[in-house]
Amino acid sequence: MTMKAAGSPSLLQERRSIAAHVSVYIFVIVPFIALLATIPVAWGWGLRWSDVVLAIAWYVVTFLGITVGYHRYFTHGAFKAKKHIRIALAIAGSMAVHGPIVHWVADHRRHHAFADKEGDPHSPWLFGTTPLGVLHGFWHAHVGWILNRDLTNQTRFAPDLLADRGIRIVHRLFGPLTAATILMPPMIGGLVTWSWRGALTALFWASLVRIALVHHVSWSVNSICHMIGERPFATRDRSANFWPLAILSMGESWHNLHHADPTCARHGVGRGQIDISARFIWLLERLGWVDDVRWPTSRRLSRLTLRRDGEVAQSPVLSIRTTPDIENVRINFDE
Ligand SMILES: [Zn+2]
Ligand SMILES: [Zn+2]
Repeated sequence: MTMKAAGSPSLLQERRSIAAHVSVYIFVIVPFIALLATIPVAWGWGLRWSDVVLAIAWYVVTFLGITVGYHRYFTHGAFKAKKHIRIALAIAGSMAVHGPIVHWVADHRRHHAFADKEGDPHSPWLFGTTPLGVLHGFWHAHVGWILNRDLTNQTRFAPDLLADRGIRIVHRLFGPLTAATILMPPMIGGLVTWSWRGALTALFWASLVRIALVHHVSWSVNSICHMIGERPFATRDRSANFWPLAILSMGESWHNLHHADPTCARHGVGRGQIDISARFIWLLERLGWVDDVRWPTSRRLSRLTLRRDGEVAQSPVLSIRTTPDIENVRINFDE
């Protein structure tokens, strides 16, 4: 892939070294495999079906709270929602333990305003392109920035949310909602299995492991999806589509389109680019709970600039190259 956007100045001087590239892969993949290995080890004595069902259910609900709620709706206004859905999305997002809603939205709007430049709260490209600089950048973009005590100016970046009483209340309830997201799975697990042991294993898997997974998958959008992947659309930043995370991130890893068209309700616009969050928004639209959804119509997509990049054109997972394919994008949902 080239680093140069069509028609705009290059953001980088050169590609990172093979050593740095390999280290990023190792840093990303090995700990995750170790995490997955705990499942067969614990099966039968410390993990049962009720834990798996609870963990998946809480993962899906809280992750959609972030992707559909915090991100596509509250940050970018990709659709309009009825009041009860607005509050439900804010609560579900809070239960992902990503921080109170107004902080999250202010940080993320700042990310788009300064993407991969000074002022971006979590760009991986602020520490140079040496192997150490890349590792430092990965750490900073993934989790390091969260450990910084600086808060984004909410009055500047999220005045609309500050003006909403219901959202201010959900914002202030972040502490109790965090307690709820940790304590409710063991309560359910204990009741379903009628045992303290069932409560304890649900606490471990459906609360703690689930929150860790929600964290790392969504943090990967900030780190990996600004480092590795395909960039079919011309943007002024390093945002990329990283297909291996499409399912777990519920469509958020189609991050290049998102930076090219931030208010679009669907990020995976190419054929075969699964976007579970977009499908959920579609469902809410069908139920009449949301409207004015900014779907990626062919007219909308035709305004975006495709990056002229031979390597992207060879990608088996992308079909966003010609107008006929773009025409098909909207139709995909009704197939
Ligand atoms: Zn981004
Ligand atoms: Zn965004």
